Amino acid sequence: MKHLSIFGATGSIGQSTLDLVRRNKELYSVEVLTGGRNLDRLVDNALEFRPKIVVTAYEDTYQELKERLSGTGIEVGSGVNGINDSASLPVDWAMSAIVGAAGLEPGLRAMQSGADLALANKESMVAAGPLMRQTSFENDVALLPVDSEHSAVFQALIGEDRKAIERVILTASGGAFRDWSLAEITAATPEQAATHPNWDMGQRITIDSASMFNKALEVIEAKELFNLSASQIEVVVHPQSMLHALVGFQDGGLMAHIGPADMRHAIGFALNYPNRSYLPVERLDLVKIGRFDFSAPDLVKYPALRLAYDVLELGGFSGAVYNSAKEIALDAFIAQRIGFLDMAKVVEAVLERVFIKSMSKENIFCLENVLNMDHTGRIYAKEEIEKKF
Ligand code: NAD
Ligand code: MG
Repeated sequence: MKHLSIFGATGSIGQSTLDLVRRNKELYSVEVLTGGRNLDRLVDNALEFRPKIVVTAYEDTYQELKERLSGTGIEVGSGVNGINDSASLPVDWAMSAIVGAAGLEPGLRAMQSGADLALANKESMVAAGPLMRQTSFENDVALLPVDSEHSAVFQALIGEDRKAIERVILTASGGAFRDWSLAEITAATPEQAATHPNWDMGQRITIDSASMFNKALEVIEAKELFNLSASQIEVVVHPQSMLHALVGFQDGGLMAHIGPADMRHAIGFALNYPNRSYLPVERLDLVKIGRFDFSAPDLVKYPALRLAYDVLELGGFSGAVYNSAKEIALDAFIAQRIGFLDMAKVVEAVLERVFIKSMSKENIFCLENVLNMDHTGRIYAKEEIEKKF
């Protein structure tokens, strides 16, 4: 019996994880579920999976959650502390599927408590890659990438000598605005950005896909997960979203990972690791698909991607700042305070400010320093938005 915790259980990744667990209930015991505003779903899942602890991210929903679960024997918690505390419950495997930097601490705590960490929350790797890797190493737990591209790289590397890696190619669907002109993209609304041609995901990552902030985070995530340099990471636009990533080796060979655009593959791979088991995903019919297309990303339409390479060069805390400034810029775009391409302008201005002040000399393995830099990025982003828009 594998004991599991699922952070961000009510979201898109959390629900796909529970879908796999539901199909093999005899193999798993769910110990912790956390959610946010969607209390109905959290309560339904709690009643179905009967975890030890259920936590809502928001204090103001605590009372209602407690009432709705009264008499079940399930412990109820709330807020950042409630989530972090629940992550200290020892389990075998934890799914990190909270969106944003809020996922960092629960992921670290889960690893410190001995859980292998299935990492959907790319933001923790972007903000604190060295600390995440160190924590996994020190606690002898696996860090299993769930982002489809990184799961693809991880799978392509099984049995390979990592020293023989020459390059990694991440594919990008191009998001909602793949075929839009620069003028159209400039005027894009949150509603238009929140639809994805291939993947069914949470609102924030879907908008990040349209702006390629998502791919930008993934470039940084790849550097941190696989210890790569900037020149080793490439991005190509591949509209079919079936070839998720390729690894190029010293001998010129490329290992590609191909699969349907269904996150249950990567989640299931991490859940079954190191074994492979049956997963209920579509079997691709290559003849029906007919072709795979590739093109270079347009860095004028997607400035977020250009900035990610600046982060790779800058190192230090630039990932934490990049991510937190992006989260604030995304909030402002969703609230229609700033335009679609203004998000990258905000992030660029914040990166410049932070590094003019050369605040990157502190120890990058210290969580408090990461959180401070995350905070600085948020304050500066708010100031830039006030000043410019
Ligand atoms: P989502 O918005 O559907 O779900 C997010 C979950 O986090 C919900 O349970 C929500 O209640 C919770 N949450 C939100 N804010 C929180 C906070 N401040 N504190 C605690 N909990 C909070 O998001 P998603 O699409 O499932 O994505 C989750 C993570 O997985 C993100 O990091 C995303 O980048 C990554 N990811 C998602 C996909 C996908 O297909 N959806 C693919 C690859 C990676
Ligand atoms: Mg991805």
